[in-house]
Amino acid sequence: MRSSVVWLCVVALLAFATSQAAAAQHPLRLLVVTGGHGFDHDPFFDLFKTMPGVEYTEAVQPAANALYTREAAKSYDVVVLYDMVQEISDEQKQDLVRLLKKDGKGLVAIHHSMANYLYWPEFRKILGGRYYTKPLTVNGVEHSKSGYEHDVHFTVQIADPKHPITKGMKDFELVDETYSDYDIERGITPLLKVNHPKSAPVIAWTNKYGKARIVVIQSGHGPTAYSNPNYRQILENAIRWAGGK
Ligand SMILES: [Zn+2]
Repeated sequence: MRSSVVWLCVVALLAFATSQAAAAQHPLRLLVVTGGHGFDHDPFFDLFKTMPGVEYTEAVQPAANALYTREAAKSYDVVVLYDMVQEISDEQKQDLVRLLKKDGKGLVAIHHSMANYLYWPEFRKILGGRYYTKPLTVNGVEHSKSGYEHDVHFTVQIADPKHPITKGMKDFELVDETYSDYDIERGITPLLKVNHPKSAPVIAWTNKYGKARIVVIQSGHGPTAYSNPNYRQILENAIRWAGGK
């Protein structure tokens, strides 16, 4: 009896040591895509510098579009979008769709990246939503221009307290830029909600796109969001969840 307990302890210790070693040896590698929209560089990247067990590479558009190939994707685990661009070639579109849908690479889209690729309908399906920088008619349906408002103080409500990204979190206050009148697909899972006239009601959600876990977080314009501990926690949880952790 006693020796079996000792053995159990040894096995448990070995498993723990192995998992710790694996965590140390295999950080979660992020490809952080920027470009096409200004932002406060150092405070933004401090978000990723301070995340334990995370490494990142910044890729600036339009060059970042070329990194969605299977070969290039061997060097990262999760794509974090913080770009705002319209240009993407047909081949690059196919690469991104395959990377997500078939290969299941995780993706977290923050703030102005919701306005990427306005003329590529599939990108709306990838994110499960879309911000319109101008009025646009898609498949005969007319979409009005989305809105934005800087420096809004609002209460963020946890919509799904059981989800791994928001588990254990309480409603919190945030000062940030809000967006309004953007599209959200029916199949998404809301994570964060807001009740404010200057904001759309759902400001963070998850989406399933093929094998890929997708998270969209509307908030994140600047340092008032970057420095908010709850915002940092949501972003970190979202990145780990998208990366399958
Ligand atoms: Zn902004």
